[in-house]
Amino acid sequence: MAEPFALGEHHAVVATSIGIAVAPGDGGTADELLKNADLALYRAKSDGRGQSRFFEPEMDQRMQARLLLERYLRDALVEGQFQLFYQPLVNLESDQVVACEALLRWDHPVRGSVPPAEFVPLAEDTGLIVPISEWILRQACEEAARWPERIKVAVNISPVHLHAGGLVQTVVTALAAAGLPASRLELEITETALLQNSKEALSTLTRLHDLGVRLALDDFGTAYSSLSYLRRYPFDKIKIDRSFIADLGSGNHDSLAIVRSLTRLGASLGMATTAEGVETEEQLAVVRAEGVTEMQGYHFSPPRPAAEIRALLEQAERERSASAA
Ligand code: C2E
Ligand code: MG
Ligand code: MG
Repeated sequence: MAEPFALGEHHAVVATSIGIAVAPGDGGTADELLKNADLALYRAKSDGRGQSRFFEPEMDQRMQARLLLERYLRDALVEGQFQLFYQPLVNLESDQVVACEALLRWDHPVRGSVPPAEFVPLAEDTGLIVPISEWILRQACEEAARWPERIKVAVNISPVHLHAGGLVQTVVTALAAAGLPASRLELEITETALLQNSKEALSTLTRLHDLGVRLALDDFGTAYSSLSYLRRYPFDKIKIDRSFIADLGSGNHDSLAIVRSLTRLGASLGMATTAEGVETEEQLAVVRAEGVTEMQGYHFSPPRPAAEIRALLEQAERERSASAA
């Protein structure tokens, strides 16, 4: 199967994955065998295609769990089970909060709180990420409109949403509904979103940038870290992945070298840098000394509910005007 087929002048390459179920152990009826072979096929594909897998009973349990979570997820938006938390980003020169990142939280009545790492991929696979993401943008812009004017809001954009089309319109609508200037919105895009190198993604990001929306490249350093993304797309900021920050201060010279060169790279390209996941005083001292523009992490504040962030921002604003007076 792996050999190309000649179709006139074209070569067609057919990829094959195989799922295997064996009677009678994996099922006594044709229906049952096919269903289980299909589950094994699903695993073969998710293990990287071009493979074969025998059915195992735990595949069925995993699939049932996934289907159940998917069903819960379909109801989550209408049932109002989502909530946005916000985490401050602090400028390291002024030591002031300059933005907050909106982070999605899902509290299910039965499952309890489900981490985004678990449900965001599921929402992406099912396309549910698009309506969810529209809700996030509206909600985040509305919330930011209540903050002091100099504070921006950062929203994570899924690669699926970037490629689904309609993102520019969604952003424009959310900004207009909230009365928020585009310059106060920052969109965080991961590198994986850019792997396809599509014209549409470039045009979408360019249009957003032309509107005045700021663009940040999220988790930089974890995937392909292709420098061509930085040249090709209009990014304003690089977010240095927290795996590099975690190693700072533990005498890991490689991480320090990476943080240092990403910071210089950002500076010479005219882009700001954010250190993600700063947890200790020591890590803070290192990123400060390296000239990173902003930091975000538990050391300053974990993500918090909207009301707590509002109080924190108001408090900071009062202190600012008191010290200015
Ligand atoms: P991200 O965009 O890189 O978000 C930063 C993650 O690091 C958040 O995890 C945050 O809680 C965590 N974090 C912040 N400071 C620290 C720290 O000092 N130490 C440690 N260990 N972690 C820290 P969270 O909220 O679990 O989100 C995980 C990922 O899920 C996000 O990574 C983002 O890729 C995705 N995600 C979250 N909310 C959304 C959303 O609204 N839309 C989309 N598309 N993806 C989202
Ligand atoms: Mg992010
Ligand atoms: Mg990140």
